[in-house]
Amino acid sequence: MRVLVVEDDGHLRGQLREALQGAGYVVDEAADGEEGHFLGETEPYDAVVLDVGLPVMDGISVLERWRREQRNMPVLILTARDRWSDKVAGIDAGADDYVTKPFHIEEVLARVRALIRRAAGHASSELECGPLRLDTRTARVSVDGTPLKLTSHEYRLLDYLMHHQDSVVSRSELIEHLYDQDFDRDSNTIEVFVGRLRKKIGLDLIETIRGQGYRLRHG
Ligand code: CA
Repeated sequence: MRVLVVEDDGHLRGQLREALQGAGYVVDEAADGEEGHFLGETEPYDAVVLDVGLPVMDGISVLERWRREQRNMPVLILTARDRWSDKVAGIDAGADDYVTKPFHIEEVLARVRALIRRAAGHASSELECGPLRLDTRTARVSVDGTPLKLTSHEYRLLDYLMHHQDSVVSRSELIEHLYDQDFDRDSNTIEVFVGRLRKKIGLDLIETIRGQGYRLRHG
């Protein structure tokens, strides 16, 4: 899952990046509204954390422009405590949720998780596919109750497939959602990760749909 963080406070941006990466997300960053708007317009994100008070273009304007351009990814806005009007403006502009500064990083993580889950149509934080279970809160995966040890790349891949169960997911979609902009986007790496994941899961849950991509399905 790929998340964009738009925040001009470098320290806070770094904290958000570290926490989100630690939770298994790929993170892109922007330090002003214009750059943030550009990234959100051109790259596919599974969620965005958007500060309202930004230089060059404020967060509300960024959000309004995305929504006008039919960019419908879930957006969590960060608002200052004494600016209740920002919350109203943000929600009117199409924000899906907000967190008031100062916040605990855990709260941002929980809200981002919930937004991604809801966008994929899941109400629970635990995803299931037959005997396979993935807990998005703890980033733990198990088969028939036995924990699996996955690398962060394998976890991200499985997380994406579990959120899009029963649909065919193309390799290019996986590359776009699993790697940041600077990654060498070689589609063979996806094949390698899928191969390893299949071995670790030990069950035939990930189908290859020739010429189209992969599908996670049970039964
Ligand atoms: Ca700010």
